[in-house]
Amino acid sequence: MRASLLLGIALIAGGPAAAADTLDVAATTAAVARTLDADYPRLDALYKDLHAHPELGMMETRTAATLAKEMRAAGFEVTEGVGKTGLVAMYKNGPGPLVMVRTDLDALPMEEKTGLAYASKAKQVWNGKETFVMHACGHDIHMASWVGAARALVALKDRWKGTLMFIGQPAEESAGGPEDMIADKLFERFGKPDMGFVLHVGPDPAGQVSYKPGVLTSNSDSIAIQFIGRGGHGSMPSGTIDPVVMAARFVLDVQTVVSREKPAGEFGVITIGAIEGGSAGNIIPDRVTLRGTIRSYSPEVRKLLGQGVHRTAAAVAMMAGAPEPEVRIVTGGTAVVNDAGLAERTGAVFKTAFGDDAVRNEEPGSASEDYSVFVLAGIPSMYFGIGGTDPAKFKEAKAKGVDVPFNHSPQFAPVPGPTIRTGVTAMTLAVMNVMPK
Ligand SMILES: [Zn+2]
Ligand SMILES: [Zn+2]
Repeated sequence: MRASLLLGIALIAGGPAAAADTLDVAATTAAVARTLDADYPRLDALYKDLHAHPELGMMETRTAATLAKEMRAAGFEVTEGVGKTGLVAMYKNGPGPLVMVRTDLDALPMEEKTGLAYASKAKQVWNGKETFVMHACGHDIHMASWVGAARALVALKDRWKGTLMFIGQPAEESAGGPEDMIADKLFERFGKPDMGFVLHVGPDPAGQVSYKPGVLTSNSDSIAIQFIGRGGHGSMPSGTIDPVVMAARFVLDVQTVVSREKPAGEFGVITIGAIEGGSAGNIIPDRVTLRGTIRSYSPEVRKLLGQGVHRTAAAVAMMAGAPEPEVRIVTGGTAVVNDAGLAERTGAVFKTAFGDDAVRNEEPGSASEDYSVFVLAGIPSMYFGIGGTDPAKFKEAKAKGVDVPFNHSPQFAPVPGPTIRTGVTAMTLAVMNVMPK
């Protein structure tokens, strides 16, 4: 059984990234488990400390200092303040590829309602207002797994060669972190990685690992359009230019961009989620604002839908004899696209190590992630998921037909033990799988 699986990995590994020797997955998994037996209490304490002290994007100073101390203790050379609150930890271990492993550092502006003993009571000022702060997206799980994988890789350094570049990225939720690190000469100062690995925790049962070659998340752009008319009495529309009618026409007509212009087989959505305008039934307002979102996977569809929104808004205003509308499309996250070869190769190792708990997803998700900035900067990458929900609670919720708390929920509470152990094991295997012996 194992021999045939190893042969499978060797065949998949036949591409250009196949410099590494075939990894003995079973022996490596067992070795990681041994290092985890010794390290886990430390990682558990680190996780609970980070969870109780969350910090918002670009304010992660305590978090970064905590990680810097951990990585120095693990034997890494650490540079702090890369891209404001980011950090870079390097470990050189002979000739081989330069492999990047990224964790995010930031938390969310919301109140924790998990009732856990180590729940956050922290507050920070966000957009001029004091707010509660919570690690509701599990970035604390990522950080503990990142430190754990660093420690495991150092403990197993006789079994691989190469250079590790562990980066702590600020502001994943609020955006700008990768751009700031790259602008701070991340690649010039520390080298351009040959490949990168990232994990994200989600509501799947703890112990589970999921992966997908190719497109993983969506492009997400926000739309704001203001139609400018001429207000007046509802009984005398001829003296007005009615922006409510313009908005109504736009909401319907813009859907033909999706149904008639976008290739039918490609994913793309335009949603107008908010219409703001007017105050009374007998007054024609002078302006109406529409807000919406555009989602896509490919850059071509993204461009086509954005142009369609601009063109439709301009045409609707022209038909009404109104001034040019104000159209703002704010570029949000770009789709994360996993390197197909690297994802298949890593996924094969996950299958061997985790069996049925390694799940290959067929469909991309609709969420967004700014790790795409590193992919677009030319780092072939593998972004994978780990489950965080207590498997017993997951089963119970499924039996009752209810959802378990998802990321960004005030009740989101990954079970640390199996989640971090799985994160450390998967990440260590993924990295060792691309390193020569
Ligand atoms: Zn999030
Ligand atoms: Zn997240």
